Amino acid sequence: NLGVEQAKAWIDQMNELFQQQKQYLTELDQAIGDGDHGWNMARGFQEAVDKISSNRYEDLGTLLKDVAMTLIAKVGGASGPLYGTAFLKMSQVLAGKQEGNEQEWIAALGEALAGLKARGKAQVGEKTMIDVWEPVVMFLQEKGQLLAREAAQLAQQKMEETKTLEAKKGRAAYLGKRSIGHIDPGSASSCLLFIAFAKVVE
Ligand code: ADP
Ligand code: MG
Ligand code: MG
Repeated sequence: NLGVEQAKAWIDQMNELFQQQKQYLTELDQAIGDGDHGWNMARGFQEAVDKISSNRYEDLGTLLKDVAMTLIAKVGGASGPLYGTAFLKMSQVLAGKQEGNEQEWIAALGEALAGLKARGKAQVGEKTMIDVWEPVVMFLQEKGQLLAREAAQLAQQKMEETKTLEAKKGRAAYLGKRSIGHIDPGSASSCLLFIAFAKVVE
């Protein structure tokens, strides 16, 4: 079971990775977007960590909702509202629970994916973070177990595969075929989210 302390550690770990990889994520976004993705993620998650580290949480819902609201309020662009929606959906599934079992966390990630797709209207193959989220969530649902390390490996593979895709959503879509050959920045940050998750689950 993963409880409030592990969820906090996940957010902390994500923040560490986003601070470390800020330059890399920004370079990816410079190639096919407006070059702010690293800054967006680093600022948003630093704010989220600042917010949650000063509070005591009785349940996962309140914790994850604070993260969601911080991301929505503090991060501009596409990624703030998208990641905010993902955490908001997770907070709804895990509301009132001090800890969640594997099935509940898989359900939470499933709702996060549904929220991302509803918000961004993107499908698999359109070169967005959905190209990482959907296969990872489907893998976990099929296995029925929180195989976090395998999920993180799959996320990495799917992130790499976004290179071959032409962007159909987000700023990169303006480039059309010229977006081919580059990794989608949001798929890279989503990959870091699942890597951080694996570090905490192990
Ligand atoms: P912006 O493009 O507004 O500057 P960011 O650079 O922070 O925002 O985030 C860009 C990332 O957001 C993209 O790489 C992509 O993965 C993701 N993204 C953009 N639009 C969508 C969408 N409609 N659905 C899902 N993800 C999207
Ligand atoms: Mg950008
Ligand atoms: Mg921007």
